Amino acid sequence: MAGSVAAGPRQIFLARSRSIIVPLGASRRVVLSAIAVAVLAILGSAFLLMSGDKGGQDDSVPGDANESERERDKQEPATEVEPTGNDEYAEDRSRMVKTQIRSRDVRDPDVLTAMNTVPRHLFVPDHQVPYAYEDRPLPIGYGQTISQPYIVAVMTEELNLQPGKSRALEVGTGSGYQAAVLAQICSEVFSVEIIPELAQSAAKTLETLGYSNVQVRNSDGYYGWEENAPYDAIIVTCAASHIPPSLIEQLADGGRLVLPLGSPYSWQTLTIIEKQDGETKLTYSFPVVFVPMTGEIEEQESVQE
Ligand code: SAH
Repeated sequence: MAGSVAAGPRQIFLARSRSIIVPLGASRRVVLSAIAVAVLAILGSAFLLMSGDKGGQDDSVPGDANESERERDKQEPATEVEPTGNDEYAEDRSRMVKTQIRSRDVRDPDVLTAMNTVPRHLFVPDHQVPYAYEDRPLPIGYGQTISQPYIVAVMTEELNLQPGKSRALEVGTGSGYQAAVLAQICSEVFSVEIIPELAQSAAKTLETLGYSNVQVRNSDGYYGWEENAPYDAIIVTCAASHIPPSLIEQLADGGRLVLPLGSPYSWQTLTIIEKQDGETKLTYSFPVVFVPMTGEIEEQESVQE
């Protein structure tokens, strides 16, 4: 089963400027516009792939920082990434943050600290523990994956979280790792998972580790989690062919929604939706590969075929 992986840094750099404005109150139009622009984004990225860039289909990950990133590195003082915690993986974790995350384009100190703090090895199955800090997604059972650390960091940074203030919703709890990273920064995290066994085990892991500001529920995240809405940040960690209308509704004004938008069976574009004064603005970032969103969205896709 494919995991969430990133393509090359040149694509990241080029793709971050594409954005469009969509009026609110027309969820169908939001969906259609999203599909149309996602198609454009995919065609654009396909062109980049054909012209020699590394694609997002394999387990390729960004390489060294490109020229403009190196320039920026010279100007910005580097955030120190010292090992945090006294577990046997503390060194591996800080190396992961330095070599896979900070060395690329993630600069938010709260995100770097969260990634340096959460014990990723306690969120993977026993036989995957030795690989927990490697630069790739890992299987967590039931055909699902825990995302590559870099992708977790980028998506968290794109949410523009306010430390101690933001309330976040996650769709796709999986192992609970992304929820823990959010919980390090947010005041409250709500996470929904469609596979009951994963919801149960993630809730247990989070509770054991003392993440008392996270709530996990077994339900279809296509409908969000209405009782606790609105959310300052919504993150979807499974691939969606369109933006679930409930998620736009449950996003607070001034909030941000990040999701992999595109074909659930090939690859998607990491997409950021900002809601401001009755309008939503979509920004297309770089190509990624996530496991498919299932449930209601799949029913709708099969009706359309
Ligand atoms: N964020 C997770 C990785 C998620 S993998 C982590 O940190 O480990 C994607 C997850 O989304 C899977 O666990 C899958 O079961 C779940 N999922 C798929 N469709 C869903 C839906 N409609 N609602 C909620 N969860 C869903």
